[in-house]
Amino acid sequence: MADVVLKNVSKSYGDRVQAVKSVDLEVRDKEFVVLVGPSGCGKSTTLRMVAGLEEISEGEIYIDKQIVNDIPAKNRDIAMVFQNYALYPHMSVYENLAFGLKLRRYPKKEIDRRVREAAEILGLCKGDMLSRKPKELSGGERQRVAVGRAIVRKPKVFLFDEPLSNLDAKLRVQMRMELQKLHNRLQCTMIYVTHDQVEALTLGDRIVVMRDGLIQQVADPVNLYESPSNKFVAGFIGSPPMNFLKGTILSENGSYFFYDRGIKLRLLPQHHSKISAYRNKSVVFGIRPEDIYDKIFAQDARPEFTITATVDMVEPMGSEIYIYLNAGNNSFVARVSNQDTATVNQDLQMVFDMSKAHFFDPESEEAIF
Ligand code: ADP
Repeated sequence: MADVVLKNVSKSYGDRVQAVKSVDLEVRDKEFVVLVGPSGCGKSTTLRMVAGLEEISEGEIYIDKQIVNDIPAKNRDIAMVFQNYALYPHMSVYENLAFGLKLRRYPKKEIDRRVREAAEILGLCKGDMLSRKPKELSGGERQRVAVGRAIVRKPKVFLFDEPLSNLDAKLRVQMRMELQKLHNRLQCTMIYVTHDQVEALTLGDRIVVMRDGLIQQVADPVNLYESPSNKFVAGFIGSPPMNFLKGTILSENGSYFFYDRGIKLRLLPQHHSKISAYRNKSVVFGIRPEDIYDKIFAQDARPEFTITATVDMVEPMGSEIYIYLNAGNNSFVARVSNQDTATVNQDLQMVFDMSKAHFFDPESEEAIF
């Protein structure tokens, strides 16, 4: 198994498209790293450069300490699983699994051993499964065969390009868990590309958030969620997304307040040093929907953390309710328990957990804290 290092890696297509811009990334041995970001941000291109399917315009890529820029894909000892499975339709499951090894002239016995081992890991041994053709399989089973083809190779690194996108929601959740188990069992380096932030949070040991070809932040799931480094990451990770309220920082009698029409919230003392430079200046206040409470259910409902807001919409989600509210010029959503009984146009006292507050510079969009 191996680590993968990208040093200052860029990729241009012609003069106009710079798909990946100076990416530095270290994927450790046995780590599960997820590249996530909106469509077109350069995730696939990055992965394909690691795979050797795309030339590197600038920079270096190392696999297991060896520079691979000029090593063709087939000699990089990696295996890639694609979104569209890329199975051979005329071959049985067994033959599909065996194909890559046959090509590399493995002995028949070894091929059979590896195919059966992979099939067993992935639950593909049942009944006549191994002799079926891809068209006789469900979407989930096809995806398992695609993963199996990677496993039999016992590669140094597994690469996954949106492997679950073609599956329905329920199957996606199931396959997600299977991939997690697979990673635990195989103890190998995996790099996984997805546009789905939930998939990223549940699968990744560490997550790389990309935007416009640039890495925005690399962090483990908890840190990414709790301490996003900028407004883009804060808004991309989490559902419903973090609320962003526009306003000004006021300082009164040794306290700092976030202020806008209809909103005045006191900041906590531990945030004073970082916010003091923004006194009388505009800021963006970020707060996650689960950190806003209806006053009647709040534990700490002090008036300096409470505002009055009007209910715009109520969305029941089973165990929870999303309440969409307006206060002055700002709108936000609160994610509360289904015990709450908000109704449209009602005025509610909403309490903000200011220990969970985030502030962003309105120009640079970098986190102030
Ligand atoms: P993602 O995987 O994040 O959706 P991609 O890595 O596929 O994004 O693409 C990044 C950018 O590079 C996009 O703007 C895309 O249009 C462009 N791009 C990708 N492949 C090519 C190509 N072969 N020729 C020109 N532009 C490309």
